[in-house]
Amino acid sequence: MKVTLQSLQELQQTNRKLEQLARDKERLSIDVKNQQRLLEQKKRRAEATHKEHMDASKAADRAQLQIEAAEQDNQRLQLQLNTVSNQREYDAIQTAILSNQADIHKWEDEALASLERVDELSAQGQRLAAEIEAASKELEQVKREVARKEEDYNQQISKISSERRQIRENIRPEVLQAYDRLARSHPHTALATVRNRICGGCHTRITKQSENLLMRGADLVYCHSCGRLLMLAEQAS
Ligand SMILES: [Zn+2]
Repeated sequence: MKVTLQSLQELQQTNRKLEQLARDKERLSIDVKNQQRLLEQKKRRAEATHKEHMDASKAADRAQLQIEAAEQDNQRLQLQLNTVSNQREYDAIQTAILSNQADIHKWEDEALASLERVDELSAQGQRLAAEIEAASKELEQVKREVARKEEDYNQQISKISSERRQIRENIRPEVLQAYDRLARSHPHTALATVRNRICGGCHTRITKQSENLLMRGADLVYCHSCGRLLMLAEQAS
C-alpha cells in the first residue's frame, strides 16, 4: 500500500515538473516578442525621422525658391528705378525693394534652420539604420536560441511524459481514477502529506480514525475536510 502512495507522490511530482516545463517553454516566446517589439519601435522611429527629413528638405527648397524669386524681382525693380519719372513712383519702388530684402533675410534664416535640421535628421536616420540592422541580427539570434531551447524542452517533456506513463501503469486503476479526479481541482496537492495529524492540503486536523487507517497502510484515505488523498509524511520520499 505504501508503494501505491509513493507512486502517487511520484505522479504528482511528475505532473508538476511537466507543467513547469510547459510554462517555461511558453515563456520562451516572450523573448522573441520583446525583441520584435524593439525592432518595430526602431522602424517606426526611422520612418518618422525620414518623413521629417523630407519635410525639412522641402521647406529648405521652398525658402530657396522664394529667395530667388524675390531677388529676380529686385533686379527688375532696380532697372525700373532708372526709368521712373517722379519721386512718388521712385519711393514706391524703393519700398518694394526693401520689403523684398526683408523677406529674403527671413527666408534665408528659414532655409538655414531647415538645412541644419536636414543634417541632424540625416545623422539620426543613419544612427537608426545601424540600430535597426543590429536589432534585426539580435532578433535572428534570439529566434535561433529560442528554437534550440524549445527543442531541449521538447526532449525533456517527452522523456518525463514516458516516465509518467510508467508510473501510472504501476498504480491500480481505481486509485488512479480517484487521484485524477482530485487533481482536477487540486493540480499540485491532490495527494497531501500529513504531519502531526495536520492535512498539508487544508491545514485541518485529520480524524483519529483517518490517522489509524494511514498507520495501517490503507492507500485511499481522504481528508474529511478538503477531500484530498492523504499520506503520512514519514511515508513520503
Ligand atoms: Zn485536507
